[in-house]
Amino acid sequence: MVMTIPESAQEIRLASRPEGTPVPENFEFATVPVPQPGDGEVLVKNLFLSVDPYMRGRMRDVPSYSPPYKLGEAMTGGAVGEVVASTVDSVKVGDTVVHQLGWREYSVVKAEQAQKVDPAVPLGAYLGVLGMPGLTAYVGITTIAQIKPGDVVFVSGAAGAVGSVAGQIAKLKGASRVIGSAGSAEKVRHLTEDLGFDAAFNYHDGPVAELLQAAAPDGIDVYFDNVGGEHLEAAITAMNWHGRAALCGSISGYNNESPQPGPRNLSKLVGWRIRLEGFLVLDHWNQMPQFLAEAGAWVQSGELKYDETVVEGFENTPKAFMDMLAGANTGKMLVKL
Ligand code: NAP
Repeated sequence: MVMTIPESAQEIRLASRPEGTPVPENFEFATVPVPQPGDGEVLVKNLFLSVDPYMRGRMRDVPSYSPPYKLGEAMTGGAVGEVVASTVDSVKVGDTVVHQLGWREYSVVKAEQAQKVDPAVPLGAYLGVLGMPGLTAYVGITTIAQIKPGDVVFVSGAAGAVGSVAGQIAKLKGASRVIGSAGSAEKVRHLTEDLGFDAAFNYHDGPVAELLQAAAPDGIDVYFDNVGGEHLEAAITAMNWHGRAALCGSISGYNNESPQPGPRNLSKLVGWRIRLEGFLVLDHWNQMPQFLAEAGAWVQSGELKYDETVVEGFENTPKAFMDMLAGANTGKMLVKL
């Protein structure tokens, strides 16, 4: 198969570190030569790029589980694309692969870091419901929160990529009631009318503790935390004995210049035997096959629904990222090249 490969293509670099909310000036576009892949490498023409909240953390120059992006260098992130040149037998020209060197039009990737996927599946799914965010939801609900039939579950960030899957998996695993919070009336409607949540609220409508108390008058057993801050404190207040919280993220503080105050009610954890546990999906990647078997079947049967907000055009990648942080997405935010 002959593929036309351009001589040059664009990549997006970190131009400056954001102070607070990221702005367009934090990013710069650069035109660079498209290299031939070296030994053991493949060249991928990217078709979809993922923009994810953790990238905001990597824009800071602080030690973390994922190293900071360097100023003036191309950013990276999840991507799915087509192999257009290869020096290895295991990955051929024409294969579709997922890899982590996005934020550019063409990526040279080590063959062992290019995961072959079925091109018959809508490709965005590999960056969302059947990819890293989906596995995060699955691990958080099953391994970390150890959901039990009959549990009452609260999910924050419930209309996003991780949250929407977490709430539905909780229900599929036997939760008696699933409550979601999100940032608009339309998202709240979507959660209850389309995704099967039993109740939902817009966290802008009042104190989260009051909104949660109204939605869960008998308390909650599990909290899947995407948001942190006021949401986490409210969830602790609402927790029943032996409650479990899977701490997945705290997006309400990602643009803060100084740390958010911690929950004021941590002393409740002792008497109520409550467990809060942070986790990273990258420590649970070995569950991917089991997850894909279960979630793939749910998606196919229609029991697990998913949304994508697709922004067209490589040039709109920074905007898609900034819009995602501001809540413009329902389900997974993607860029289609
Ligand atoms: P997402 O939920 O699809 O998109 C981010 C959403 O955050 C926005 O749509 C917005 O929705 C919400 N948001 C923004 N500012 C907020 C605020 N101040 N208060 C409440 N909500 C706010 O993103 P995602 O990829 O699924 O990630 C969700 C969370 O999971 C993030 O915290 C992320 O860091 C975390 N995560 C963790 C892991 C892990 O391994 N632990 C892996 C993946 C993701 P609204 O309109 O509802 O405000």
